[in-house]
Amino acid sequence: MNLEIISIGDELLIGQTLNTNAHWIASEVDKVGFSVTRHTTVGDTKNEIIEALSLALKKNDVILITGGLGPTNDDLTMPVLNDFFGGKIIENKEVLQDIEKLVLSRGMEMNINNIRQALVPDICVPIRNKNGTAPGLWFDINNKIIVALPGVPFEMKAMLTDDVLPRLIGKFKLPIIIHRIVYTQGIPESKLAEVIAGWENNLPSTIKLAYLPSPGRVKLRLSSTGADRNKMSELIEIAVEELKMIIAPFIYSTEAGNIEEIIGKLLSDKKVTIATAESCTGGYISHLITSVSGSSDYYTGSVISYSNDIKVRELGVNSLDIEKYGAVSKQVVEQMAEGVLKKMNVDYSIAVSGIAGPTGGTDDKPVGTVWIAISSKLYGTQSKEYRFGKIRSVNIERTAVAALGMLRELLIK
Ligand code: ATP
Ligand code: MG
Repeated sequence: MNLEIISIGDELLIGQTLNTNAHWIASEVDKVGFSVTRHTTVGDTKNEIIEALSLALKKNDVILITGGLGPTNDDLTMPVLNDFFGGKIIENKEVLQDIEKLVLSRGMEMNINNIRQALVPDICVPIRNKNGTAPGLWFDINNKIIVALPGVPFEMKAMLTDDVLPRLIGKFKLPIIIHRIVYTQGIPESKLAEVIAGWENNLPSTIKLAYLPSPGRVKLRLSSTGADRNKMSELIEIAVEELKMIIAPFIYSTEAGNIEEIIGKLLSDKKVTIATAESCTGGYISHLITSVSGSSDYYTGSVISYSNDIKVRELGVNSLDIEKYGAVSKQVVEQMAEGVLKKMNVDYSIAVSGIAGPTGGTDDKPVGTVWIAISSKLYGTQSKEYRFGKIRSVNIERTAVAALGMLRELLIK
């Protein structure tokens, strides 16, 4: 079943708002078996909306539209859809009651725009909006489904998940799609492709492979579309097991999850604690660790020791060593890790010190030079030097991923 996503809004066209709705909707509908054929973005302009809609109807069974459902004059989606499909705009009593309830529960009074939101085409089924005033609109025209959803991301998401997706699944017979992701770290995409070329060439024709790189990591996505879930799962499982035999050291997960979640699970399973001492990442590693719910069980805190003075005062790094070896050095990063381990009285610590760039590099320590140390009561301290690239944000990301990767290696020892 083919599906197109149409995003409406001038703010999307001019780059003021990032179109996260299309991104999110695409992954949700893909999971349940729709083939997303196109993403279209148009401004708040009647002709543009009609043109997009006409084109989309030629090729698709389902069209999901977001944005422009509000009550103000620049919101055109509802009247345009109504005219296009030849309906009449009427006040819907249930929608009005819903809006009234929501407005009163927020301690406000109904205004003219709230009342206008209850006006919907008589040829569609309104969809409840539990989180806002604009109802969704479900049109079933000549066996094609056209749904208009609010632009506000959390309103759209709730409506799609709770209401629209279940209805779509009930309406269409969808193929089964299985995606399995193998998360790798520490091997560049080009090298990875070379190493697994033989495996890739021997994959069953029903399995498609995609490389999804991000700084320091490459996700390998195996996808299969069909009707026999067991058979498909089995083939994917075999392929993953074969892959593990080739690149085991670089795989940090074959289940859904990112490295901070994997680390979180390992730390909580082992009932151990961790702290960080961050220089060039400025707290980014802590941010990743604490973005996982439940991290308070194992994470105590960080010393963001950006200046040398703080490295010395808060972490007990020897100032003579900083002078002699530089702040980005094995000696200093190891002392940072040991210092924070002691200070926070934790089982494990991570320390990083590097030159994120774009300035600050020297001949023997170019931009992208990073030292990472892991210290633990059990295994002592170990450190490693990395040479990343020239782009500051990428260096910060890669440092964090590499540090968490080093910790993971130690935890699974
Ligand atoms: P409202 O009742 O708020 O007017 P609406 O359905 O008319 O809802 P819009 O006015 O188009 O929605 O957008 C509301 C807000 O939602 C915008 O400020 C924008 O930040 C956000 N938004 C709209 N479309 C998208 C999108 N495709 N991706 C991410 N955010 C979006
Ligand atoms: Mg808008």
